[in-house]
Amino acid sequence: SDVESQKDRVVTEEEWLEKWEMGDIGFHKEVGHPLLQKYLDVLLNGRSGLRIFFPLCGKAVEMKWLADMGHSVVGVEISEQAVKEFFSEHSLPYCEEPVPEISGAKMFQSTSGNISLYCCSIYDLSSSIVGKFDGVWDRGALVAVNPCDRQRYASLMISLVEKNSSYLLVTVSYDPNKHKGPPFYIPESEIKSLFG
Ligand code: SAH
Repeated sequence: SDVESQKDRVVTEEEWLEKWEMGDIGFHKEVGHPLLQKYLDVLLNGRSGLRIFFPLCGKAVEMKWLADMGHSVVGVEISEQAVKEFFSEHSLPYCEEPVPEISGAKMFQSTSGNISLYCCSIYDLSSSIVGKFDGVWDRGALVAVNPCDRQRYASLMISLVEKNSSYLLVTVSYDPNKHKGPPFYIPESEIKSLFG
């Protein structure tokens, strides 16, 4: 079947860190994603002051954008370089502190307090550590997760959202036999079974 060719592909944490070191970050975009602009109303649903989660956040510029709109942004990213580049590229002062519940993890927080980026693996997080979210912007996240970890990722994400939350998910459609990913190809039917 279509998805067979990518099923066993694994990108290790070390490989991600190396991509950041080498500047091999074609996934990063300087301009805010047009689909977030288009579906912003769906994400916010008339609400203000939301807690919005950015899984596998990289240095996504949309975090600054939503924070400037008055929301509180939380991201998670394994590359400390990415996190530091985010704050420096937006000239945001920040402080850095350990996360007592997760050995080796650090939390980087803007001095204004509305952007908190956890530097650790997303699989180390739980709602007892980061709380629950009203909204999720999942771009370059589910599609970057190794296919063997998708179920675990989706279950974790479901455990991190409030009942009345909105979850925006961006996926990519292409022939998985022609590109090894990431981003990985995820059929619509699999997304339905992952998120229900
Ligand atoms: N969402 C971002 C980045 C997409 S690339 C954007 O839209 O630009 C995927 C990112 O996930 C990379 O920055 C990589 O370093 C990070 N990553 C990979 N595995 C991770 C994990 N297990 N936990 C946290 N971050 C991870």
